[in-house]
Amino acid sequence: MSKKAECPECAADVSLPDDVMEGEIVQCAECGVELEVISLDPPELDLAPEEEEDWGE
Ligand SMILES: [Zn+2]
Repeated sequence: MSKKAECPECAADVSLPDDVMEGEIVQCAECGVELEVISLDPPELDLAPEEEEDWGE
């Protein structure tokens, strides 16, 4: 049974893998934004923090 959650950015349905884990990063197929799975029951997504490669300056 596949899980679905709503993209907080564009409100599209995002399919989650069956074995999705909390904290996993998924990508919205609709707008391409990276989303973090913050909850599994019910499945909930939040915008993933952007990875800054050179933030230590
Ligand atoms: Zn989206």
